[in-house]
Order: sequence, then C-alpha cells, then structure tokens
Amino acid sequence: MSNNPNGALHQKEYGHLINGAWVAGDSGKTIDLLNPFNGEKLSQIAAGNSKDVNAAVDAASNAFPEWSQSSPNQRQEILFEIARRLKVRLNDYAMLETLNNGKPLRESLHFDIPQAINQFELFAGAAFHLHGQSFDYPDAIGLVHREPIGVCAQIIPWNVPMIMMACKIAPALAAGNTIVMKPAETVCLSVMEFFREMSDIIPPGVVNIISGYGPDVGETLITHPDVRKVAFTGSIPTAQKVMQYASKNIIPQTLELGGKSAQIVCDDADIDAAVEGATMSTVLNKGEVCLAGSRLFLHETIQDEFLEKFKTALENIRLGDPSDIATQMGPQASVMQRDKVCSYLELGAEEGASILTGGQRASGVGLDDGNFIQPTIFTNVTNDMRIAQEEIFGPVTCVIPWKEDDDVMRLANESNYGLAGGVWTTNLARAHKISRSMQTGTVWINRYYNLKSAMPLGGYKQSGFGREFCFDVLNHYTITKSVVINLQEGAMGMYDQ
Ligand code: ADP
Repeated sequence: MSNNPNGALHQKEYGHLINGAWVAGDSGKTIDLLNPFNGEKLSQIAAGNSKDVNAAVDAASNAFPEWSQSSPNQRQEILFEIARRLKVRLNDYAMLETLNNGKPLRESLHFDIPQAINQFELFAGAAFHLHGQSFDYPDAIGLVHREPIGVCAQIIPWNVPMIMMACKIAPALAAGNTIVMKPAETVCLSVMEFFREMSDIIPPGVVNIISGYGPDVGETLITHPDVRKVAFTGSIPTAQKVMQYASKNIIPQTLELGGKSAQIVCDDADIDAAVEGATMSTVLNKGEVCLAGSRLFLHETIQDEFLEKFKTALENIRLGDPSDIATQMGPQASVMQRDKVCSYLELGAEEGASILTGGQRASGVGLDDGNFIQPTIFTNVTNDMRIAQEEIFGPVTCVIPWKEDDDVMRLANESNYGLAGGVWTTNLARAHKISRSMQTGTVWINRYYNLKSAMPLGGYKQSGFGREFCFDVLNHYTITKSVVINLQEGAMGMYDQ
C-alpha cells in the first residue's frame, strides 16, 4: 500500500526529534494515537516534559548561528525537496491524515496534502526575497536589514495537522529561524512521519519536535529565555495562557483562534451554488474547521427553497470509513470532540432552536464504532444564542433569517470572532458593500473555502492576530535592523573640543 521506500506507512512509535536524533522522552510515558473510525491504536508518541523541552530549545539555540547564516539557495533547496518528497508520498500522507484524524481520504488527497505542499513551494521562493531596504539622505545612507528572529516555538492543533505544520515551519525556515514545534497530542501521526522522513535533509537542531500534552510542555517552552517568538493555533483559553507565558520574556505572538463565521445569502443569490457552499461548510472535515461558515444568514424570501435543498444535500452525505474514497464525511477526530459536539446539540434544543435535520450521533452499519455525528441544521436560531456564538467545531450549521441588508451586516458582526465569512449575491456592488462591512479576516464571495495561494489568512477580534499563508507572515519571522551610515566627515561641532 505504501510508496515509502522502507515499506511501512508509519512507525509503531515515535519519540521526540531533538538535534536531528529521535530520542525517548524523559518521562517514559507515552500517548496512544487512535483511529477515530474504529478506536484502534495506530501508533504511540512520547509524552514530553520540561526536560525534553529544554533539550530541544538548547538544540535549536545551538543550530541558530549557522542556520541563520545559511544561503537562500540552501534554504530554498530544502523547502523544494520537502515539497518533492511530499508529492512522491502524497497517497501515504493523505492516508495518515485520514487514519488519525478521520477526515475523508478525498479531502486529505485533494485538499490537505496539496495545501501543505503549496506552503513549501510558496516559501521556497521567499528565501530569496527577504531583502531589506535602503534610504538615501544628503548626508547619510540608511540600510534596513531583515534578520531571522531566532528560536521559534510553534504549537499546532489536531484538525488539519499537515497544513498547520507546513504553514508554520515553511516561512520560519525560509527566513532562517530554528524551531521547536509541539504537535497536538490526539492527532499528529502524519506530522511525526513527515519529520521522520525529512530528518535527513533538515540540518540537526533546525527543527525539533516535542510531542505531548500542552500543559506539560507549553509553559517551559514559551517562557524559555532563548525562545524569541511563539506561533500558536488553537482555542482561546489556551491562547490566553500562551499570551501570559509570552509576556514573561516579552516575545511576539501570532495567534489563530477559530471562528463562528457568517455566510450571508442574499435574495438574488445563485441558490444552488450557495446550498453547495453551505453543505461544504457544514461537512468539510466534519465541521472541524476554524473557517467554517457556521452562522448561515438566509434572506427570508429564499429561506424555504434554500432549506429544502440544504436539508436534502445534508441527508445525502455519505458517512462511512474515511479511508474509502467514496466517503464524504468521517467521524469527529476524538471522543472528546464528539462529546463536545453532542453537548451543543443538547444545548441548541434547550435554547429553543429547532432541528431541521440531524441532531444526534449517527449510527448504522460501519458507523457504530466511530465518533460520527449526523450533519445538522438548526433553525429558529437567534444570533445571541450560545449555539450561534460559540464554536461547536462539528457538522452543525445555525440558520438565522434576515430581511434588510443593514440588519444582516450588523448581526454578522455581533460575534467575538472574526476569522472568515461568505457573501452570496449576483449584485457586485452589494457583495462589495457587505464584504467591506464585515469585521473578519477573509470574505469569500460566491464560493466558500475559496482559498487562494498567498492570500493572507488570520483573524479580527478574538480570532487572533497575525497573518499566515502569505508573505506577510515573513514579517513575524524576521526582525529589522536599521543601520545609518554617516556620509559627512569630521565632528558635527556641537561641543568645544
Ligand atoms: P483544541 O481545543 O482545538 O484542542 P487547544 O488550544 O487545547 O485547542 O490545543 C491546541 C494546541 O495547544 C495543542 O497542541 C495542545 O496540546 C496545545 N496546548 C494545550 N494547552 C496548552 C498550554 N497550556 N500551553 C501550550 N500549549 C497548549
């Protein structure tokens, strides 16, 4: 099955990657990586602790002087080689992502791994474009140098591990930084196998991987005096801790923290296209996507037609074994996540919302051992309900009707989040007006999830700050130094000398 030269799709166990060597963790404790489709154990990772973190940061610090002086050619070559190897083992990495996360193979093959490859190709080019600036004055020349920032701590979540890993390490490496990364403890099989495969081309100490539970390693990592920057993607409560840790040594942060994005469907929209967008937004990665358009604002004149089509589309979604290419939606990534989604399904009923379709765990042949939830539409929702304000992170969409453009523009912004959004209308001026009114980092007009290479991605408000997936991110991984060269000879004559 595998096209890995050494035969196996993945290892039975992974340690930490420190200074180019795979080592057992200091604690000796391990964490099982499970397949959420059947609960079977796939592999195990080390449960890291402070001692492991300190060793990893030491390795990254020691590697920094040489790596930060590496030529752009060397960094570009490594990033291209990573992309090339990912293409060679595309099927393997897609399968690994599917096995551990539960996302359908059709998504990991055509979305996750290609997006990860794209990050390496995008930033391979950036290695040559980290130039500074020069300023001319009558009496001086100003030079602005762009320097790598140093050792970067990078903490990633479990929903799209390969994309998260790639969007964090590719720009950091292109800019000449060294890294200590902590992948998520529940889902990281693809990422561990990736670093196993790549550890012969990434110089020792340049990328170090410490696996384990966040609270056991997070504080030591982020407060370490040699760590100069932290990039984090995950939940708001964890981000608040990350910011506290980062305040100890005053290090900069980039934070991407989820969303509750609005999709606004106008009365003049192409209904079939919008229904497809809402369906995709509900079921893609079983709704475990920070960008999901989970607040669906339907103009009241098209609501009935829309909901009939939307309900049919969700009821036709093929749930099943995610490693079957025909499957359209898999199980939630963990029992914990499944239970969290179920608690929101109960909450919706308590808050007075109605369930148009779904609303419970999915069962039946091939589903009973997995963490499956039925794709769900809540109607009779008001924007102030908790199900409309909190990130459910499951295949659940809340429908809110509207009549006037001014009202929907106000309601869309009544959210603590601001990561993405969608507008569906055939009127360009209206699309433009609504999109510019939205307090959110990305707006897709007439096609949801229309991710385009090099477009900035990041949040307004509590969705975080900093932009990734674009060249702006290089500003987060570099620091400028201004050098002024005086062109006038002699002293200025200010003092009696
Ligand atoms: P989610 O709710 O999506 O799992 P989390 O914020 O809990 O989001 O997790 C995202 C990442 O943050 C994971 O890699 C997790 O292990 C890590 N994490 C959790 N707690 C901490 C912490 N106290 N410090 C640093 N990282 C943490």
